[in-house]
Amino acid sequence: MRVGVLGFQGGVYEHVYTTRRALEEVGVSGSVGIVKKPADVDAVDALIIPGGESTTIGILAHRTGVLDRIRERVAGGMPVLGTCAGAIIMAEKVSDRVLGEKSQPLIGSMSIEVVRNYFGRQRESFEAEISIEGFEKAFRGVFIRSPAIKSAWGRARIVGWVNYRGEKVGAVAVQDGLMATAFHPELAGDTRIHRFWIERALAFVKK
Ligand code: GLN
Repeated sequence: MRVGVLGFQGGVYEHVYTTRRALEEVGVSGSVGIVKKPADVDAVDALIIPGGESTTIGILAHRTGVLDRIRERVAGGMPVLGTCAGAIIMAEKVSDRVLGEKSQPLIGSMSIEVVRNYFGRQRESFEAEISIEGFEKAFRGVFIRSPAIKSAWGRARIVGWVNYRGEKVGAVAVQDGLMATAFHPELAGDTRIHRFWIERALAFVKK
């Protein structure tokens, strides 16, 4: 399986490294490369959109024609893992807790509503345990100015939550081969999210 990591901005190399490890651990032969042009999108079977700044990543991906190409490939079934800013870019509906409603370039293929900067600026970063359906032990979530996944509909489902000040907040969503995490799994030193996504993705990769 050829996995691409969208390489404009954010935690690109951490994802490359974690994905290589995860492929090895699940015993799937494959490669991991950086995606920056529409032709790069065509050269991979599955894609990771890293965290960073979703407006910046979206604008660069839009200008280069990569955003439209990803949207087309996703419509054709390409699996995508979007983390933090990547989850925002994958969402159909986005608002910002700090800035309110504003428009930004999105792929918009996941039937989820995401609220940017949900945990506020005063507590931009924190770590917390995420309970995820099907995971025996909690996953240590690294939240950096993270969004919340507020709702899911259609084929999308929220499968992971963080307990934040007594509120159960959506942190992981899946929709067929698509997966979104509000936090940064590539910074946890734990490959379980990548492994989980690769195993799901295999079913959707065109043979
Ligand atoms: N707050 C960022 C955004 O809205 C996301 C932060 C991140 O990816 N670490 O794009």
